[in-house]
Amino acid sequence: MTARVIDGKAIAAELRAAVGTETRRLVAERGLTPGLAVVLVGENPASRAYVGSKSKAVVEAGMRPFDHHLPDDVSEDALVALVKRLNVDPAVSGILVQLPLPPQIDASRIIATVNPDKDVDGFHPLNAGRLASGLPGLAPCTPLGCIKLAKTVQASLAGLDAVVIGRSNIVGKPLAQLLLAENATVTVAHSRTRDLPALCRRADLLFAAIGRPEMVRGDWIKPGAMVIDVGINRITDGGKSRLVGDVNFTEAAAVAGAITPVPGGVGPMTIACLLVNTLRAACMQADLPAPGV
Ligand code: NAP
Repeated sequence: MTARVIDGKAIAAELRAAVGTETRRLVAERGLTPGLAVVLVGENPASRAYVGSKSKAVVEAGMRPFDHHLPDDVSEDALVALVKRLNVDPAVSGILVQLPLPPQIDASRIIATVNPDKDVDGFHPLNAGRLASGLPGLAPCTPLGCIKLAKTVQASLAGLDAVVIGRSNIVGKPLAQLLLAENATVTVAHSRTRDLPALCRRADLLFAAIGRPEMVRGDWIKPGAMVIDVGINRITDGGKSRLVGDVNFTEAAAVAGAITPVPGGVGPMTIACLLVNTLRAACMQADLPAPGV
């Protein structure tokens, strides 16, 4: 069997275009332009590149970007003060503080300072609690993107056996909650899980969010299963550097029914879902119904 490759790049482009259409309608009908503030601390090249792509996508969607670049040695109090200013700025619908932060800053304090209604990353404990309680709120972008990709293959995930490898607050745990909300039967695996390959072989839906290059092998996959690879790992191969996922793509594609590539799978969906969250946040703050994207 050769798996269908889920084209995250194309699906993300469609989603960004749909957000753009809804945004322009909001501007025309309500005079409301959603704004996204992105705060970058320091010079981490990966973070800089990521923040650059976010700002470009924000402008393309017809939203207003507010970029803040702070020096690597900024104090925690100065960063908290900036977030508090953004919290009360009516032009700012969403706030994203790019992680990781330098060691002098307690990331959990910064996350907790963001106004939960503007928390487009969905990392604030209140939004994590809303998600776990099945209440409306803002959910993290990468897990949202995973669900949207899975639903392009199977419109309903109800009753499917889903295995999520990884239990981080930014991917594994919220992904498990979103899958539960889709009525999947969810198992969350981690570094202490016994016989991970056997567990994975039971999964109709397998999500890998581990951070270990090509750890998931072909013989871990149930024939015909859907495999969503969240991992982004840079490896050096024959003297050349390239990105690989947490799944051995060649082996898995020979067994799975559908699979996301790396790059070009989950990655592009994260930014598209950030735009969705910014639009949702703007609508929520204006007491308007949630947008249809
Ligand atoms: P993380 O915080 O390091 O969490 C990794 C998880 O994997 C942990 O729960 C850990 O278990 C588990 N794990 C590690 N080794 C394992 C093993 N041998 N067997 C089973 N489970 C194991 O990472 P993360 O932030 O969730 O990110 C995961 C991956 O997704 C990374 O490659 C990251 O770059 C990528 N990512 C991609 C996007 C995107 O936009 N596509 C966004 C975010 C992250 P324990 O909890 O027991 O330690």
